[in-house]
Amino acid sequence: MANFTTHIAVGTIAAGALATITLAADVVGPENLIAVTMAGVLGSILPDIDLKDSRPSRAFFSGLAVFFSFVALFTTAGKYSIAEMILLWLGTLLFVRYVAKWVFHKMSYHRGIWHSGLAAVFCAFATAAAYYWVLKRPEGVSWLAAGFMLIGYFVHLTLDEMYSVDVMDTRIKASFGTALKPIDAKHWGHSAAMALATVAAFMLTPSTQQFTESMSSQNMWSGLQRRALPVDHSVWFGIDLKNLGKQIPSIKRADTATPAASATTPAASATTPAASAATPSAPTTTATVTPASAPTVPAPTKPEPAPIDTGSLKSIAPSMSNAPSANDLGTILKPN
Ligand SMILES: [Zn+2]
Repeated sequence: MANFTTHIAVGTIAAGALATITLAADVVGPENLIAVTMAGVLGSILPDIDLKDSRPSRAFFSGLAVFFSFVALFTTAGKYSIAEMILLWLGTLLFVRYVAKWVFHKMSYHRGIWHSGLAAVFCAFATAAAYYWVLKRPEGVSWLAAGFMLIGYFVHLTLDEMYSVDVMDTRIKASFGTALKPIDAKHWGHSAAMALATVAAFMLTPSTQQFTESMSSQNMWSGLQRRALPVDHSVWFGIDLKNLGKQIPSIKRADTATPAASATTPAASATTPAASAATPSAPTTTATVTPASAPTVPAPTKPEPAPIDTGSLKSIAPSMSNAPSANDLGTILKPN
């Protein structure tokens, strides 16, 4: 079986992904989004309530004990003396924390009915009812929390089942098929009790109208589809991933190009005599001009080193002939 840490980690990731989609869909406010996400995280650990002395079981019964003890206190306030109320409060707390827990573990066993799809549905209905009646959340939010609980619960069952398969040995452990099952076929009594509890929980759930209306909204789904990926598929977080390879070396080259250009300027005057010597042997460079005027060209071009510079830079790196100038850099650094 997957341990508690794995369950809470995977459950949090799943609930976080669902919360992100819900946030993008813009169907609930931030305060309700947190409450709904918590239902998903809770669902991902709740099935292990049937594991005696497991953290979910201890935490669940401690929470229930606190809840029921205060319900007992507030519903009887004014009827009894302070001493009686303290006794009642403490009695309820200890009863739920120890007696109810003991009875629960006597009646359930690990990977029994609580590790089943039926229990997931029961917990989802119970969540919808609790969010609506106890936490006073709107109907739609309560059902959304139920959905988060259901998915979280199934994430737990799936994870348990995945851990049943020994990937390295490709052997199937004895626990295979004990987590992700619709009902507990070995204990029909447990399954029947859970089915009854599911029906009872459903009767307490609020109307589904608000939830189904917002979930079937065409606008919401088309909006989600539109926002699923960045508008320009290659631009993530404002960075153009398609041109990333081109941008990085071009920025480096632009830095080194400036001192190189100044270095070539004095050299340009030195190379000009050589160029004048080279021109007759290489007439292709001045092919557009008349060959007769070719030797006279280098002499007056001395005060114009700029065209020679760009030419020499490009000849240094011919593969980077489309090397960006200052103008290109401007477009790269400019946020799109
Ligand atoms: Zn489990």
